[in-house]
Amino acid sequence: MMKKIFLSLLLFISVGLSGCFLTNKASQMEKINSKQMANITSPFTTTYEVFLYSFHDSDGDGIGDINGLIEKLPYIKDLGFTSLWMMPIHPSPTYHKYDVKDYYDIDPQYGTLDDFKDLITKCNENNMKVIIDLVLNHTSVEHPWFQEAKSYLESLEDWQTPSAEECKYIDYYHFSKEFQTGYAQLGNSSYFYEARFWEGMPDLNLDNQLVKDEIRSIMEYWLDLGVSGFRLDAVTSYYTGNIEGNVSFLRWLNETGKEINEDCYFVGEAWTNQNEIAKLYESGIDSLFDFPFGNVDGIIHETTLKNIGVDAYVKKQMEAEEYYSSKNPNYINAPFYTNHDMARSAGYYAGDSEAKVKLSGALNLLMSGNVFVYYGEEIGMKGAGKDENKRAPMQWSSEENCLGPKDMDDFDMKYPPLNEQEKNAYSIYNYYKQAIHLRNAFPSIACGKTNIIDELSDQDCVVYQKTYEDETVYIIISLKDETNTIDLSSLEINELSGVLQTTEEKIELDNKILIIPSYGIAIFKK
Ligand code: CA
Repeated sequence: MMKKIFLSLLLFISVGLSGCFLTNKASQMEKINSKQMANITSPFTTTYEVFLYSFHDSDGDGIGDINGLIEKLPYIKDLGFTSLWMMPIHPSPTYHKYDVKDYYDIDPQYGTLDDFKDLITKCNENNMKVIIDLVLNHTSVEHPWFQEAKSYLESLEDWQTPSAEECKYIDYYHFSKEFQTGYAQLGNSSYFYEARFWEGMPDLNLDNQLVKDEIRSIMEYWLDLGVSGFRLDAVTSYYTGNIEGNVSFLRWLNETGKEINEDCYFVGEAWTNQNEIAKLYESGIDSLFDFPFGNVDGIIHETTLKNIGVDAYVKKQMEAEEYYSSKNPNYINAPFYTNHDMARSAGYYAGDSEAKVKLSGALNLLMSGNVFVYYGEEIGMKGAGKDENKRAPMQWSSEENCLGPKDMDDFDMKYPPLNEQEKNAYSIYNYYKQAIHLRNAFPSIACGKTNIIDELSDQDCVVYQKTYEDETVYIIISLKDETNTIDLSSLEINELSGVLQTTEEKIELDNKILIIPSYGIAIFKK
């Protein structure tokens, strides 16, 4: 699906290592065995989810913008990300902009189309892809389509029957004279309209060929501007409660996108269980977010909490790989730990839990597919409760941050801002950076099929392998409370290829005996 190899690995690693200004201790810790790095590159991405509003402000109005993001591209690249997901950028009456009023423009708070073109140019120069949020379940009530339909319906006398010949937009939405669940009243008229999320977001009629034509034009417009694809909002709500309807619409979307550009990539938000996600993969869509692994009740957090064994974390990946690929052999998993709708992960743990925050970040980044990381997770930001809190300003320093959503609560972060974490070799930030660099250095981490090595694994320590093309890596994750020793003489290994340590306590190999402290991760190339 994603045929273009876009990452020059060697260039990348040299930028990554020379670009960091760590102490000797830190560069020693950043132990990627460069001799063992692959000649292959990963076709899969590591994607940074950016909420522009709260990311970085370039013009002093306190609201993050596209030029602010451009200024921070070196930061994102240095972390190792190869792709960006921009949450909605189109004109909208809300701060989050999930209710679009013009699909062909940039919200003035964020900048201009020229700024966006600049961003694409800069991302191309850095071999970084950009996907944008495409919200198709609904528009804003302020969208001209809805406004036209509303004016027309309000102009009718009660005895008059609406005519799509007089106003085609009445068939762009679902209007009815009868109230139904999920419907809201249209102004002072006797009509109701479907608005499942909120009365400000009327649901589009996705059966209407004219609406499909509009969607095709929108995709064509942004693909022509250079985006690599789309994150699809709320795909289970396209046809509420009708999975077959959702599969069929996703199939149409995927085929239409690929008619426009064969490399057009889609990742869908289906906040649901594994069975429904598997069903949706029958549409042929590239990716669906791996919700069973994310969030406070997901498999990653259950593993870090030791509610399930770390061996189960691997076995559940194997099961999911088999299940999803049986529905779509070309599927690309889309793991993530948290997103803009979820409480941030640093708040999942009480007390001194930095090692758990780090480890859970790695459990996400070690998964196969296009992995997503929500901005700020790499420094352990906090934010829970109302949505605004989950979308707090990126903490660059204690001063130079965006204002954030205006209804956000006033709360303190648990961990220091970025400029302090950069100086600390064992910060959450430096751990994330190492984890992403390891993922990039060994493409089998992102692209490989997962296989547990049962005889070396138990619920507190797992040994598994991933193979992609001619590269195989072994990954060892220890959740034992104490430093653990593991005899790896049954594996075809020579030396450590990479380590992720949560503290200064070293991970070492002594004559095929691995010495691994609690929460340590070791990687060997076969
Ligand atoms: Ca601004």
